[in-house]
Amino acid sequence: MKLKKLEAEIEEVQSLIEGTENKKEQLQEEQKEIISEMKKIGIEKLPYSYSSLQRFIDPKTMNIHYNKHYKGYVDKLNKALEKQKDNDLDLEEIIKSISRFNKTVRNNAGGAFNHALFWKMLTPKRQKIKGEILDKIIKDFGTYEEFKKQFIERAKLNFGSGWCWLVLTKSNRLKIVTTPNQDNPLMNIVKDGGYPLLGLDLWEHAYYLRYQNKRDEYIEKFFLVVNWEFVNTLYTSKTEKKLKEEELVREILSEGQKSMGCNTTQVKEINRLFSTNPQVKYKFMNTINSIMKSVFPEYWKEKDEYEPGSMSGIYDYGTKGRSVLNKLNTNYSSFCILLNDLNVFLKSKEKEQIIFPPNDKEKQMEQMERFSNYLFLLKDRIFNMETSKTLQEILKKLKETDERGERREDATVIELKKIFNTDKVEKIGGLGNEEDMISGVDAIIELDGVRKTAQIKPFSYTKDISDSEVMVFGASAPKKYKTDFIVFNNPSKTIVFKNNATKILDGNYVFPKDSEIKSV
Ligand code: MN
Repeated sequence: MKLKKLEAEIEEVQSLIEGTENKKEQLQEEQKEIISEMKKIGIEKLPYSYSSLQRFIDPKTMNIHYNKHYKGYVDKLNKALEKQKDNDLDLEEIIKSISRFNKTVRNNAGGAFNHALFWKMLTPKRQKIKGEILDKIIKDFGTYEEFKKQFIERAKLNFGSGWCWLVLTKSNRLKIVTTPNQDNPLMNIVKDGGYPLLGLDLWEHAYYLRYQNKRDEYIEKFFLVVNWEFVNTLYTSKTEKKLKEEELVREILSEGQKSMGCNTTQVKEINRLFSTNPQVKYKFMNTINSIMKSVFPEYWKEKDEYEPGSMSGIYDYGTKGRSVLNKLNTNYSSFCILLNDLNVFLKSKEKEQIIFPPNDKEKQMEQMERFSNYLFLLKDRIFNMETSKTLQEILKKLKETDERGERREDATVIELKKIFNTDKVEKIGGLGNEEDMISGVDAIIELDGVRKTAQIKPFSYTKDISDSEVMVFGASAPKKYKTDFIVFNNPSKTIVFKNNATKILDGNYVFPKDSEIKSV
């Protein structure tokens, strides 16, 4: 609105310049002034009178808070920006890229932005919360009362000057956070931020005249004046914008994109991610399973309750029996290919790429949520056998892995013959083999005339985790099997464990040391 008006003024000045040659210099000066005025951050009008929020705050505080504190932030911000070369930005853009600016801009831009929001978040009219924001609060907190309780508790716990916020995180969850000083959750320097929907000023200047040391009372009364209509608008505009972005993503990806594939270093990183943060792995598994079910409904078979050991999954797709696609949900290379191809796209759209930071489990999970959302969104495109280069690349990898697995099992059979000192070791394996499907049997070892079953897994290394237990790292997709033995194999070692006290911890196998039979 403001921009339009100023543009019109510039135009007017422009036409005057054209009409009156002699006044040219003076008018150019005026034009400059208007432009510099346009670049200034404006002051938000208070949408009610100082005395209209008395249920919450007294007129004197409102007056000082608005006229002295808030206007002070805006003035100081504009002064600081004058010195800045690149000052043609709106306030929200400055906040989002605050790391580029100095401390003075950070404090005053925060103060200007926070208060501009805060005024609109209050209303003299008593309002009941309703609409999409209420649904979302119930979804994420259980009840509105529970949300209110948590918000009040969090605000009360905050020490010193700052703000308490309800934010919408990048993974589309509501969260209550506090920020120190005039920091805003949108600032790129704020860890665990988000898009602010509701904020409460916890600076003494906001309440001290009326409440003095009774800050808790100020915090509780805040809910008498919340402008839920505004909060709801903030929330829906954010989600609508997101929907539009998703629409765009869908359009672009349908044009087709070649696959980036994946290198060994990256695959190792994913392996590490899966074994150190099993939550991420389970989220990926569940995502892929749901997608498979919805993309290939005619090939999807549910687990048969009456058939012991039966597994749900994709069958008779292309080849008879259990499809290699069922391994996608636990395959590091597939994860990596999907991630790379998606990131190429995100980058081309100047969107934030999905990156799993090492050693930060919470951020990793946040990124996994984003990954999962994009996969769902793009499932019909990514998992289209005819047109998707990504899926073709994944299938190639899965088949390779499967063949390698076959070869590994062949090699393991030779090792097992040595370990048990018998020739009666027989490989079962292979996709679609009934016995393999039912109970995870890869090999049968006949010992003293008794058929014993074994599951064969690749692994990286083992480590003692206590005097009595050993952990096996790097085994793909650990789960419980009903076999007599679990055999681990890598190019330099084969280890056999009895499968009677097997545990899975943090996505890795753990065995009592005395379950180890032999290794070569
Ligand atoms: Mn304030």
